[in-house]
Amino acid sequence: PPPLSSTRIHSSTTSITKNSSNTKKNETLRFLQPFLISNRKPIILGWLCSAISVFSLSQLVSRLGKFSNAAIDGPQLRSQGLILLCLVAARLVSGYGQHALLWDAALKTVYEVRVHVFDRVLERELGYFEGREGGASAGDIAYRITAEASDVADTVYSVLNTIVPSTLQLSAMMAQMIVISPVLSLISFTVIPCMSLFVAYLGQELRKISREAHLSIAALSAYLNEMLPAVFFVKANNAELCESARFKRLAQIDYHAKLNKRRMKAAIPQVIQAIYYGTLSILCAGSLLISRGSFDGHSFISFVTSLLFSIEPIQNFLPSITEAFLDDIRYRSDSSCALLMKITQDVGKAYNEWRQGEPAVERLHDMTKFKDKVVEKPDAVELGHIMGELKFRDVSFKYNDDMPHVLNGLNLNIRAGEIVALVGPSGGGKTTLVKLLLRLYNPVSGSILIDNHNIENIRLRSLRKHVGLVSQDITLFSGTIAENIGYRDLTTKIDMERVKHVAQTAHADEFIRKLPEGYETNIGPRGSTLSGGQRQRLAIARALYQDPSILILDEATSALDSKSELLVRKAVEHLMENRTVLVIAHRLETVMMAKRVFLMDNGKLQEVPRSTMFNGHKDSLLSSGLVI
Ligand code: ADP
Ligand code: MG
Repeated sequence: PPPLSSTRIHSSTTSITKNSSNTKKNETLRFLQPFLISNRKPIILGWLCSAISVFSLSQLVSRLGKFSNAAIDGPQLRSQGLILLCLVAARLVSGYGQHALLWDAALKTVYEVRVHVFDRVLERELGYFEGREGGASAGDIAYRITAEASDVADTVYSVLNTIVPSTLQLSAMMAQMIVISPVLSLISFTVIPCMSLFVAYLGQELRKISREAHLSIAALSAYLNEMLPAVFFVKANNAELCESARFKRLAQIDYHAKLNKRRMKAAIPQVIQAIYYGTLSILCAGSLLISRGSFDGHSFISFVTSLLFSIEPIQNFLPSITEAFLDDIRYRSDSSCALLMKITQDVGKAYNEWRQGEPAVERLHDMTKFKDKVVEKPDAVELGHIMGELKFRDVSFKYNDDMPHVLNGLNLNIRAGEIVALVGPSGGGKTTLVKLLLRLYNPVSGSILIDNHNIENIRLRSLRKHVGLVSQDITLFSGTIAENIGYRDLTTKIDMERVKHVAQTAHADEFIRKLPEGYETNIGPRGSTLSGGQRQRLAIARALYQDPSILILDEATSALDSKSELLVRKAVEHLMENRTVLVIAHRLETVMMAKRVFLMDNGKLQEVPRSTMFNGHKDSLLSSGLVI
């Protein structure tokens, strides 16, 4: 697949983020809903674990004060200590359960979303994959299903882990704090969120400033790279002063950008200190209350512990400071930075994850919204046994509205069991005709009939089962020879007897037996370990395995040298027995097997009488690319 340029992904992602309205948000949630519901078991269990975890934490916190109170008495000390240990164990085990279960739910959700999206994408009409009808390129689709879907797992986990567990923990801790001391709680709830918000703001500013500083040095270096090689020109034009002024201006911009960055960085440790003082103010207020006798030391221990455990959930709810900010301080080892990192690392994790993940969900969802024209009618029929009569009636087709017609009122009747050849210049629309017969596209007008059933009224599966295609560019998948021949049977069990039989008929058995593992040999990506003739015979064997009533050979033998062609031609002869065959070719040998030959010209067909094939029409056949 073609590599995707990162800028493109970036720009499309950001544009979606910017445009996403509330309705879109709801739509995203609604898309995820059934998958979340189907994974309700681990989610509910995970939340249950988080409830246990929060319960044991709040017990732990409130008992901690009592513990320091009871420290005088031996037996009580032991029993209280034992309870504390049990609570710690409960907290740890349920904490593990919470994370493991919620990750299970998140990953399973993504797995199901992936499978769902992939199946829906496979159902899309061919035009979608060619970028029409709101479609996407192969690389884009692959990127969405792999990388972006993985992002969704992080998002889902964060959201699940925030909605219930963080809310529970925060409210439990806040309740505890308020019960212990409303005054101290009021101070804490003012100080901590304000500080966190301020740090978040600083982070965002620093990122902006860092980018400016980066751009300014880049501009300076670009200038030097351009100017220095042209120094001859500068001297000859007496332009040293002018260049000096330009350099000075750029250097000045860099100076200001760097200064701003450094100022911002100098502010950060002060903010950390402010957080210290903020915490200190709570401690001071606490000791003041204690000294006035309205508060006891044990309660204060419980209060401070509650406060500590309320910081993490607060961080989960706040908008995050940016990656750049974290990166910037990650490499600095002084302790103040370590503390800041700890405080800010998780800030707004969930919010940030959701903002990152939402466009990904949206883009996955987009792929499943159908606007296709090639759709199966609800009352489409299943074809049983068919004779293989084929009719094209006034078929017209163009790929795009603003492109000329490829087929223009084309008519063709093929009797059941007849072999008909189609020749014509490259780009004349022969393959397009085949794609219409397989109903990969709908004709703009006209109709195609198989045994007098309009193909629009036939179930797609049934239609494509009865029409077999061997084309010039053979598609083989990495897998064994047997899997490639029995490709259509992969969901059931491949009939090995049948595989061997068709391989013999296709003159492929001989070379397959010589391979190290015979039919179980893996042929590598796209069958890269096989020669052209071998690949061709495998494709013929595959068509024989399918045993279609109508067979199309689209320049099936055109890419072969004459030596491998002989074997392939023999195989083709077997393949043609007892079927309606449409041969598209530019080699005369293949055409010779046909009863009637048609020339594709201007999107229409014109029969070439066999008697005149080598006389009157020889020139037109030659000019159409037919090799004689
Ligand atoms: P042939 O098989 O006779 O060589 P095709 O049917 O492949 O010709 O192509 C007929 C015309 O349609 C060509 O002009 C080609 O450029 C155009 N065409 C083929 N496939 C597509 C496509 N997927 N999208 C747009 N145009 C196409
Ligand atoms: Mg073609």
